[in-house]
Amino acid sequence: MEIVKCWIEHPVRRLDQTFEYASDVPIRQGCRVLIPFGKRQLVGFVESCEPMKETMEEYRQRNGFALKKIDRVLDEEPLITEELHDLAFYMKDITLSTTISCFQAMLPSIVKPSSHQKKAVVEKWVKVSGEHCTLTPRQLEAYLSVKQAKEMPYSQLRKNYPNQAHVLLEKRALISFTKEKTAVSEPLSIASAPYPLNKEQKEAIHQIVQSDDLFFLLKGVTGSGKTEVYFQLAQKVLEEGRQVLFLVPEIGLTPMMIERVRKRFGSYLAVYHSGLNAEEKYEQYRLVHQGRAGIVVGTRSAVFLPFDNLGLIIMDEEHDTSYKQESQPAYHTRDIAMFRCSYHHARLIMGSATPSLDSYARALKHVYHPVILNHRVNDTMPEIHVVNMKEAMEAGENEMICDELRDGIALRLARREQVILLLNRRGFHSLLKCRSCQEVLKCPHCDLAMSYHKDGRIMKCHTCGYQMRVPVHCPSCHSNAGFTTYGFGTQKLQEQVEQMFPSARIIRMDADTTGKKNAHHDLLTAFGNHEADILVGTQMIAKGLDYPDVTLVGIVNGDEGLNRTDYRSCEVTFDLLMQAAGRSGRSEDRGEVILQVNDPMHYAVRCAAANDYDSFFTQEMAYRHTVNAPPYTYLISITVSAYSQEKCNTIAGKMHDGIKGNFITGGVIELLRKKDLYRSRILLKGKDLKQMRQAVSDWLDSQKNKPEGVRIDVNPLVLD
Ligand code: ADP
Ligand code: ZN
Ligand code: ZN
Repeated sequence: MEIVKCWIEHPVRRLDQTFEYASDVPIRQGCRVLIPFGKRQLVGFVESCEPMKETMEEYRQRNGFALKKIDRVLDEEPLITEELHDLAFYMKDITLSTTISCFQAMLPSIVKPSSHQKKAVVEKWVKVSGEHCTLTPRQLEAYLSVKQAKEMPYSQLRKNYPNQAHVLLEKRALISFTKEKTAVSEPLSIASAPYPLNKEQKEAIHQIVQSDDLFFLLKGVTGSGKTEVYFQLAQKVLEEGRQVLFLVPEIGLTPMMIERVRKRFGSYLAVYHSGLNAEEKYEQYRLVHQGRAGIVVGTRSAVFLPFDNLGLIIMDEEHDTSYKQESQPAYHTRDIAMFRCSYHHARLIMGSATPSLDSYARALKHVYHPVILNHRVNDTMPEIHVVNMKEAMEAGENEMICDELRDGIALRLARREQVILLLNRRGFHSLLKCRSCQEVLKCPHCDLAMSYHKDGRIMKCHTCGYQMRVPVHCPSCHSNAGFTTYGFGTQKLQEQVEQMFPSARIIRMDADTTGKKNAHHDLLTAFGNHEADILVGTQMIAKGLDYPDVTLVGIVNGDEGLNRTDYRSCEVTFDLLMQAAGRSGRSEDRGEVILQVNDPMHYAVRCAAANDYDSFFTQEMAYRHTVNAPPYTYLISITVSAYSQEKCNTIAGKMHDGIKGNFITGGVIELLRKKDLYRSRILLKGKDLKQMRQAVSDWLDSQKNKPEGVRIDVNPLVLD
């Protein structure tokens, strides 16, 4: 008899210990097992397995309870490699999460160790049965095609012989069986030729290849040819027979990048992002697991794929907030990528035109090896004009599109060039206020204003997705005086552009138009094929796009993000402006950018207009120093959510009193209600992150009943 220790996902309680079970056969670490737990059957993850040194009876007498037996072993091969096993423990330590939640974060949902397990993707295959039967000529033809292939997916037979396939099964000439579905992959082939590199690009690659360092920050202005540097490094690594992971921040960017990668490297490629369904993810996962993909393009979760011979991780747009997972375990992709690169002795290239403050500060201290591209490939930076919208409106100009932007668009339309208009707010109006009591129409589930969407005259909550019709009576004062509208989003901007330029063809891209599968890809392809003149959209159009015919970018309400109270609001705004501006003039023609703002004197606006990252960095670092914010200090945010504010405050209060050390434990702050949950937060601030983490985990360990609804975020990027 073997004694097996396993991790268990408990649906309610935060259990972070292994439980012991008995097994007749040895089971390898990293396999999943079905186990009885109380009255339930749960899925466990094997941590260790050793021959039992005592009898079951001795075990019972020693412990006071009987050892239960495992019901079933679910995997023949461990799902979690040794490396990923160690990574789970590392991730648990740095994010203060449970071990099982880290294992779960690593796996595609089909094989996740969860209580409701799904089946792997199987498909129906057919082969000849050997039984004798009479067949029509056409049936015989179908039969022989299977016989010749030995076996064949049923779907293929049905495609070739739609009327015969099922008859052959009914007559028992063929028998069916199931097989695990596999995706096809082709060997490495270089499809499109690499560019001859310019001097800066050559120098960058040389620096990286010559160095013994593993972590590099590639800072290069937009259009400086970072992608080409990535590709040529990737090619070297692939030629050595090692694997490449190419991370992009959002699924919106993956279709473009996939196309570029596929053009260059053929289809020796796996693709892994949140837009895939469970089956598709599992297929891609297996491509990597079986070593049938050399290069993987993916978003955040691709960093956990089971590589066994990784040579390079590229993290494009490394400053992007979507590299941080919001839910538990709240990991940052950069930390995971660094762990994996250290393990495989692979290089990590973090690339951006606007590196995150933390990363650039580290590069200046040579914690990361800095590599800089200062010039655009075409050597011209776009010209940026800042328009003060307060003045423009006083002069009677349109509140959404000032005269200069209007004339700029007209010129591009006449020249058959393309225009991108960025407004980082979707919907039609941003809020509605009651004419009688002046109350803002809020989501019944969140303490937040709802936005008016013109299609269907619907109010939408952008936090929880709740929708309702515009009410006849004000929910606060019951008056039927109606509502005044404030602010505008992409829908209204589109309408305005349509009115100004009735013959222009417009594509809008925001969360409302990209809900369907492949919508990102289809809209971007259409714009790329010049099926539209103007692309209107939210931040999802600001990054990564490379359209040579775009010669004007208009940024509407460019400094709206500065109104947020978040400590990173200036950085986020600056990044967005720089990224958006970078979409203009990427080929021979010089690009222009018109930046409409309310506060032209703000340093985030001024530095973006001057295309001056270094100056922004200096000023923003000075600000962070003054307010003692990251990267000068570390933060741990602890948020408690519950259906009553009192309960939140009680738990948060207990944690505030209990978690002490050589750091500041901020008082309990009540946050806005979200999705019917009240929330309270405490914030730890200090210089010694290790000690802060230890204090939190000590407190959690000391609690007999672990508090529920607690979310811990080490190094939070968003504090809302
Ligand atoms: P970044 O990723 O830095 O914004 P890209 O890699 O997308 O820049 O390059 C910008 C444009 O320049 C692309 O259209 C790309 O195809 C082109 N390009 C890159 N490197 C070269 C080169 N060495 N010679 C000519 N064109 C290049
Ligand atoms: Zn009212
Ligand atoms: Zn809501």
